[in-house]
Order: sequence, then structure tokens, then C-alpha cells
Amino acid sequence: MTEPVQNPYEMALAQFDRAAQYVDLKADIAEMLRHCKRELTVNFPVKMDDGSVKLFTGYRVHHSAILGPTKGGIRYHPDVTLDEMRGLAMLMTWKCAVVNIPYGGAKGGVVCDPKALSLSELENLTRRYATETAILMSPEGDIPAPDVGTNPQVMSWIMDTYSMHRGYSTPAVVTGKPVEIGGSLGRYEATGRGVTFVILEALKYLEMKPSEATVAVQGFGNVGSVSAALLHDEECQVIAVSDSQGGIYNPHGLDPRDVLRHKREAGTVVGYPGSDRITNEELLALKCDVLVPAALEGAITASNADCVQARILAEGANGPTTPQADQALIEKGVFILPDILANAGGVTVSYFEWVQGLQHFFWTEDEINFQLRQVMVRSFHEVLSVAQRKGVDNRTAALILAIDRVHRATLLRGIYP
Ligand code: NAD
Repeated sequence: MTEPVQNPYEMALAQFDRAAQYVDLKADIAEMLRHCKRELTVNFPVKMDDGSVKLFTGYRVHHSAILGPTKGGIRYHPDVTLDEMRGLAMLMTWKCAVVNIPYGGAKGGVVCDPKALSLSELENLTRRYATETAILMSPEGDIPAPDVGTNPQVMSWIMDTYSMHRGYSTPAVVTGKPVEIGGSLGRYEATGRGVTFVILEALKYLEMKPSEATVAVQGFGNVGSVSAALLHDEECQVIAVSDSQGGIYNPHGLDPRDVLRHKREAGTVVGYPGSDRITNEELLALKCDVLVPAALEGAITASNADCVQARILAEGANGPTTPQADQALIEKGVFILPDILANAGGVTVSYFEWVQGLQHFFWTEDEINFQLRQVMVRSFHEVLSVAQRKGVDNRTAALILAIDRVHRATLLRGIYP
């Protein structure tokens, strides 16, 4: 069975419509929430190393600013489209609302292949994109962060460009910055740590002991490697991990930090001593208790969902499960920790970074991790309680919780004028 590739905005709308049936939404507010509040398209020139000038297209989209300033990453990728930005901005609104942090949703991007640009071209492109979109960006109004193809260095350039135009340093205008210029301790690990917190709560709820749980992790980057290491610390047995070049399997368990050391040397997890090589497809089909897709979107599809044997699916990645696969997994009784809950640790610590930047007062890593745990554990139980009350799956429950929060805030604020 194959699925048509769906437009990301249409997918976000379909998810919204499904969950909105369970919320007593006023029709005019539902219509508002189906649209993005602001959409900026910029076409801008960049000086290339060979002296030529190339035109690039970028976007910044705000879906909703009802709960607070808009928050969302900036993506550098050849496939960036306005509809992708719209869909991802909408998902950011729901992700922030699920964990109840005072942000609305946004997304930005530039159509480019960052790997094909030199460092100075990347800096020129970033500084010009930041200038072109500065009319929307501010610590009070819209706070970007890294996403696919961008990183702390790109955030540093955006922060510096914005600060140059203001005449003083404005660290709170972006998050995901290096610690040296106002980034937060614990930000690098935040998403994987949040994934781990919700998995531990799910195990407790399902009356499974971490020490008896086996785990497979697809994608061994930021989210996947941190989740694997922290689950290993909790005595879970990490039996398989993978990256874009393939996977490794050891039924007796792997040491994720040692695998990371190997990956740093060899460029891939493949070839790790004492492990068997498996494919990414085989990893998804392994008999295990917890499966963590932490690579790309669309990893679990209608064609492989039936092979998934895990009891818990913890979506470290954004959108790793297609709508048809989601339905198949629900029917199989898989306990799904949906992306807008499971990987919200990243935006939560981004929020802590922003608060620290506004106050110029920095927290210890223990304080960050403690507060993150509070947010993730509370949100897990709130989602579970909606799922039980409404008799729906966890993904729909997370969306209901989020949409209801934004809806109630909209009613309280009223329609201006
Ligand atoms: P990353 O680039 O650090 O790691 C991605 C990993 O996936 C790499 O190990 C890569 O080799 C692997 N990979 C790529 N293609 C693959 C494939 N076809 N099969 C198997 N593995 C493959 O990225 P990341 O920051 O860890 O992000 C991973 C996912 O988590 C993305 O969907 C991202 O949007 C989402 N996410 C990340 C954060 C964050 O804070 N980093 C927050 C929320 C959501």
C-alpha cells in the first residue's frame, strides 16, 4: 500500500479538523485557526564567493500569536515551500500550547542547499535573510530557532545582525545560540531529555519496568543519540540504533555513548564492534518495547506500519508517522507519544533560554533539567487525561488540549476592534 505525498499544510489542516470536532469551537474561531496570521515572502540577493549575485527566496510565517510571541525554527533546504512553512507554523502553535508555554507558532525558511554554500556565503545569506525578515522579528514578537539545515552558528549571525541594527546586544531575539553568547545550558540535550521523560512516564503508566524495556532508535543525531544515552542511564536496554547509512543491532544491549564515540571517528554507527548490521527498515520492524523515530519525517508509512512490533512509539522526529500509518498503529494498540508532546522539550528549553536572555540571569543545568521534567511529566498526564476522557488516541488528545487552550485564550482576548 502506498500513500500519496501530502502537502504539509493540508496535512496540518486535516489533523486540526479531526481534533477540532472534539472541541466546542466557535466556527469563526475555527476558521481563524485554519489560517496563518501573517505570511512574509522575501526575494533577496546574496553575493557569492565568485563575485556573482544570486537571488534567494525565503519565508517567515506566523500562524498564531494568541498565547504569546511567535516561536519557530528556520529551515534551510531546497524543498522549502510556503505551504511547508504554513503547516510547520501551525504545528508549532499546537506544540507550544500542549506544553503550556506562552508562545504562538511560527516557521521560517530559505530555499537553498546549505551544504552547497561556503561559510561566507551562508553568513551573507543569513544576515540578509535576517534583515529582510527583521520587520517580523523581535524578542517581544517573534523568536526564531534552529531547524533542518541551520545551527547555533546561524543563530549567532541572526542575533548579531539584529543587534547591529538596534545598536545593542539583543540575545533574546533567537534561541538555540551557543552558550558563550547567551545560549542555555542543557539546550543541546533538551529534546532527547524530554523524549526520555515522556517514555519513562509511559512505561510507568503501562506498568513496564525501564530495566526490562528494550529500545530501538532510528536516527543517531542530536535527538536520537541523547535519547539513547539517557534511556541507557535509566537501565533500559538500547538494542538498536541507526543513521542515514544504516543501523546496528545487539540483542544484549549497546552503550550509546560508546556508539557515539565510534560514530565521531567512523562517520557512522555502522561497523560498531560487537554489533550486527541492519537496515533502517529492519530497525523499525524489530521486536522491542520502545521505538524512537528520531530521523526524518515520513519514516513510518502505510507500507511498513504493520511491521512495527513496539509497544510504545515515541516520536522524537517531527511528523515521522504518516496519517495512514498512524491509523494502522492505533488499530494495533501501539501507545503513541505524538511529536507535539514527545519532542517539545526542545522548544521548552528554548523558552527557558529566552526567559534567561530577557532577564540577563542564567540558571544552572540542574535547574533547567528539573523545570523541563516538570513540564514534560505534567503535559504527558494532561494529554493522557484528555485521551481517557474523550476516548481518543494520544495524538488527537494532544491536539484537542492545544486547540482548546488557544480557543479559550482567543475568546478571552476577544476580536479587535
Ligand atoms: P540531526 O541532523 O542531528 O540527526 C538526524 C539523524 O538522522 C542523523 O543521525 C542522520 O544520519 C539520521 N538520518 C538521516 N536520514 C536518515 C534515514 N533515512 N534513516 C535513518 N536515519 C537517518 O537532527 P536532529 O536535530 O536530531 O533532528 C531529528 C528530528 O527531530 C527531526 O525531525 C527534527 O525536526 C526533530 N526535532 C529536533 C529537535 C531538536 O531540538 N534538535 C526538536 C524537535 C524536533
